[in-house]
Amino acid sequence: MRQFATFSATSSAGIRVTVQSVLHEPVERKKSILLFLRWAVFLKEDRPSGGGWRMVFQGKWKGREVMTKEKVKTREKGTRINLLLAGLITVGLVFSAGLGWSGEMKIQGQKVEMARPEVEHPIKNPKMYSKIKRCNQCGMMINMWARTRHSFSHPEGEFTSCSIRCVADKVKNSVQPASAVKVALYLEPEIMIPAEKATYVIGSRAKGTMTMKSKIAFADPQKAKRFVSLYGGTVSDFQGAFQAATMELPKSAGMIAKKRQKTGKIKEVKAATECLVCGMKVASYPQHDSQVLLGDNSSGHFCSTHCLIEYLANPGQFVKKVLPTKMIWTKVYPNGGYESAVGLYYVIGSKLLGPMGREAVPFRRKAAAQAFVKDQGGKIVSFKELVPQMVANE
Ligand SMILES: [Zn+2]
Ligand SMILES: [Zn+2]
Repeated sequence: MRQFATFSATSSAGIRVTVQSVLHEPVERKKSILLFLRWAVFLKEDRPSGGGWRMVFQGKWKGREVMTKEKVKTREKGTRINLLLAGLITVGLVFSAGLGWSGEMKIQGQKVEMARPEVEHPIKNPKMYSKIKRCNQCGMMINMWARTRHSFSHPEGEFTSCSIRCVADKVKNSVQPASAVKVALYLEPEIMIPAEKATYVIGSRAKGTMTMKSKIAFADPQKAKRFVSLYGGTVSDFQGAFQAATMELPKSAGMIAKKRQKTGKIKEVKAATECLVCGMKVASYPQHDSQVLLGDNSSGHFCSTHCLIEYLANPGQFVKKVLPTKMIWTKVYPNGGYESAVGLYYVIGSKLLGPMGREAVPFRRKAAAQAFVKDQGGKIVSFKELVPQMVANE
């Protein structure tokens, strides 16, 4: 029986390509997609003038030469040029370093799981890989995401992050460089090496941390290449991975925000939702509200950072049963949506008053916080430094 395999992929640049192969012998599931790529390539994007591109490739299957017999079908003139172009574009897309792939593979219309590395990531019952509990930038648990963690020095202090994404985020938001960057080895997360000496694999089928396109590190370049041959992706160095992570930041921000809402980490404020500290209706203060995700996955809401800071300093004063705080989200001023509270810059002592009077006004970018201070007064502090005295009303 003739089998039909398709692989649809969407690159991070938004280009959609479908690779289609007609197979003349049964193919076991879970075979590498590269096999299909070698066999046939079909760019599905129909052009207004009609016709599609289809290429037939020769390939190897269990050591034997196999060739697909499907004829090239196109109604276009200049077929050869088109085919050549299609081939070049496809090969370029698949092997270029800058484009990430996400997609699915189907055989006879049935979805086939593509092989993924059989390592647990995130690690469900993590050992203690780092004494730092949470990513300094996004607040995620470092030990769970130990395989992609980084540590670095920065003019603001020593930082540990869940991933290279959060290193790039810190550098971008502060416009100050990270130095002495270290990265954990993806397959041996107990070991960290200088990132400059690591070989990175970008966009393989290893799960990403805060990104659709994972960036994982190896000490041995040969190991990295072997990994790529099994799970796709491209080999790079720290500079390449850091650049890719920086470029992705604007696009991934939306994806991350959506995911946080979809998974219930961030909850919608209802009309009746009351501030845990002062009891005011949170929905009345959409520019200032905050929320915490608690140990039982319920959320506590606050009208302002003023109330949030008071709660975090002494939760027992406001709730009967104190649950651990898993994540803290606050609205970035003035209209920046929710962001993990831990990586933001806060302006205290400014002229701007919130729902409860004095407020710690949160900013993603240090430059925005500095501009605000110039205009409204006050000074910039980090999340770690925040204490209720800083927002106390005279
Ligand atoms: Zn992070
Ligand atoms: Zn309040």
